[in-house]
Amino acid sequence: MTTPIYLDSNATTQVHPQVLEAMLPFLRDAWHNPSAGYSAGRAVKAALETARERVAEWIGASPHEVIFTGCGTESNNLAIQSMAGALPVDSPHILVSTIEHSAVFRPTEALAERGFQVSRISVLENGRVDLSALERQLASAAGGIVSIMWANNETGVVQPIPEIAEMAKAAGCLVHTDAIQAVGKVPVRVDEVPVDYLSISGHKFHAPKGVGALYVRQGSPLEPAIRGGGQESGRRSGTENVAYAVGLGEAAVLMQHAAADGTLDRVKSLRDQLESALAAQIPGLQLNGARENRTGNVAHVSFPGKTAAEMLPALDAAGLQCSAGSACMTGKSQPSHVQKAMGFSDERALSSLRLSLSIFTTEEEIERAVEILTSICG
Ligand code: PLP
Repeated sequence: MTTPIYLDSNATTQVHPQVLEAMLPFLRDAWHNPSAGYSAGRAVKAALETARERVAEWIGASPHEVIFTGCGTESNNLAIQSMAGALPVDSPHILVSTIEHSAVFRPTEALAERGFQVSRISVLENGRVDLSALERQLASAAGGIVSIMWANNETGVVQPIPEIAEMAKAAGCLVHTDAIQAVGKVPVRVDEVPVDYLSISGHKFHAPKGVGALYVRQGSPLEPAIRGGGQESGRRSGTENVAYAVGLGEAAVLMQHAAADGTLDRVKSLRDQLESALAAQIPGLQLNGARENRTGNVAHVSFPGKTAAEMLPALDAAGLQCSAGSACMTGKSQPSHVQKAMGFSDERALSSLRLSLSIFTTEEEIERAVEILTSICG
C-alpha cells in the first residue's frame, strides 16, 4: 500500500530528522540535571540556554523573555492567568475574538465564572477580526486584557496583530497572542509588534509534541502556574525537559532557513496549485477565508452537497489524511465555531475540509490529493 498523503499539518507535524538528531544526545549521553554544579550539568544547562537563544532570536526577543513550557495550551493558560492576576479589581475586562482556540476560550471562561467580564470580538466573513468592533469594545475595556490569535488553526487567516496590539496598548491593556499557528509560517517578531505575551507550540513546526514556549515581555507580569525548585527563573518550576527544548531550538533555526531559502514559498505555491485544481474541477466549490492574509500552508474548502462526516472516512480509505475544520471538531457533527463566527450556514460549515501542508509536502502528493479529492468530494 502506498504511504498515505498527510495534509493535516495544522493538527501536528512530523518531527524533522535534524531535530531528532539534535535531541538524541540529551536523551542518551548528556542526561545530567541542568541545575547540577559539575561540568556535565553545566554543559546540559548551556545547551538549554542555546535553545532559548535560538527561539528568542527567531521571534526578536531577548533570551530571558522566553520560558519553555509543556505545550501551547500551557503557554496560553500561563499568559492568561498572569494577566488576570495582575489586573486591578475595578477593571476585570477581557477581550478575545470569536475564533480563538479552546486553549484560550476555556481559561477565559473559567475567569468569567470568577467575575471577570469576558467579551468576544466578532470577525468578518473573511475570518479577520472586525477592528471597528474591537475599537468599540476597547472603549469600555481600558486597562484590561486582550487575547487574540495571530493565525487561525482552521482557516489559516492571519489577523492584523500589529494594529490590534497597537490599539490595545493605547487603551492600556495587557496583550497576549496565541501565535501557535503563525510561527514558522509567517514572520512573527515581538520587536516589531507590542504584544506582552506570545504562545508557541513545538509540534506545529517539526519539534516534538510536549514542548512549547511563552514569550513574556520584560516587565510584563508573570504569575507562575507551577512553583517549586525555581527553574526557568522561578517562572515555571520543574527540572527542565532539556532534550525537547533543544528540539524546539533546532526547529526554530530550521524554520528560519525555510523562510529564507524559499521553502515556505514552495509550500504556498503547492497550496495554491491544490486550490486552483480543485476549483477548476469541482463546480460550486468554495475557498474559505481571506485570500491574501492567510498562512501559505492551508486550504479551507467547502464541497457543495457533501459533508465532512461522509468525506473523511472515504478520504482516509483512499489514503488522504486531513480534517474537518479542526482536529478537535473531527467526529463531532456540529459546525465549527470559527465558521459560524464567519457567518457560514451550517450546511457550508459542515461541508468543509481543512487541507494543511508542511515543508515535507511534495508536488506529487498534491497531484494525487487532487485526484482523490475530486473523485470523492466532487
Ligand atoms: N492554539 C492553537 C491556535 C492551536 O492550533 C493549538 C493546537 O491545535 C493550540 C493552541 C494548543 O497547542 P498544544 O497542542 O501544543 O497544546
